[in-house]
Amino acid sequence: MRPTGKLHIGHLVGALENWVALQNSYNNFHLIADYHALTTDLETRELYQNSIEMVMDWLAAGIDPVKSPIFRQSQVKEHTELHLIFSMLITTARLERNPTLKDQIRDLNMDSVVYGHLGYPVLQAADILLYKGEVVPVGEDQVPHIEITREIARRFNLQWGEVFPEPEPKLTKFARLAGLDGNQKMSKSIGNTILLSDSPEEIQKKMRTAVTDTQKVRRNDPGRPDVCVVFSYHQKFNPTEVPQIRKDCESGALGCVDCKKNCANKVAEFLEPLRTKRAHYEKNVSEVKDILADGERRAKEEAVKTMTQVRDVMMVG
Ligand code: AMP
Repeated sequence: MRPTGKLHIGHLVGALENWVALQNSYNNFHLIADYHALTTDLETRELYQNSIEMVMDWLAAGIDPVKSPIFRQSQVKEHTELHLIFSMLITTARLERNPTLKDQIRDLNMDSVVYGHLGYPVLQAADILLYKGEVVPVGEDQVPHIEITREIARRFNLQWGEVFPEPEPKLTKFARLAGLDGNQKMSKSIGNTILLSDSPEEIQKKMRTAVTDTQKVRRNDPGRPDVCVVFSYHQKFNPTEVPQIRKDCESGALGCVDCKKNCANKVAEFLEPLRTKRAHYEKNVSEVKDILADGERRAKEEAVKTMTQVRDVMMVG
């Protein structure tokens, strides 16, 4: 994940919940992609602070730093070295076809793309393969990048022998959570988010702005739950009431104002334990820094092993 500040519920349901679930059965590596954050925000002076904020959200969501390391990409130099080697194994034409890049250009109104942004998936391939990652728990927007990672692994192995696995993406049931404004993706850069750290009052306030079915103008008009973002949040955060909400929305018995209030309450209830856990780390930032130092040492050990192998097969023969 890129350290762009506090996380939103899209991060949670699209990726983070999977990380928490998988940490018991896999050797997870939890990467803070601080170099990647520069691809769309070169001006930021807050990479470190944002990294700390993000780790607090990870810990609050249940990531166990003893089971699996948490570390910054920039502190393990092997990422940039492997990125350089991988950049020889893929054409610019292939990277230009990346649909996630096209979406970002549209969403951020970009009129040009820097070389590093075009190469984002190549650095991501290094992030994954440095740890010989077999499974990558990501949201739907990242799936094209995992495909590029597989192509790079294949190309490397063909050239120099079997070194890397071809990783598979692992999606959750909510691999693309929509934003409050009805945009297909909740995203900080679009500004349509509910943060994991938002108070119940903030969640109520934000939920009131959510775009529902535009054809349901009056309270008693029949609605179409399947086009409504609030309904999609009910599906995740309030599953037991979903059949009744669908019925009442479709018949016109349930108005959007009440439906949103109920939804905001359920989201706030769901996030309450996370907010409590986060408050502990906010008061004890030194614990977070120690967790990073430990994670960076452990990640470095693995990264050095892989790079030694890579240099051996390529340069020594
Ligand atoms: P990013 O902040 O773009 O680095 O995303 C970090 C992870 O969260 C990636 O695996 C994304 O696919 C996932 N993610 C971000 N936004 C959403 C969303 N709205 N729905 C589902 N997953 C998301």
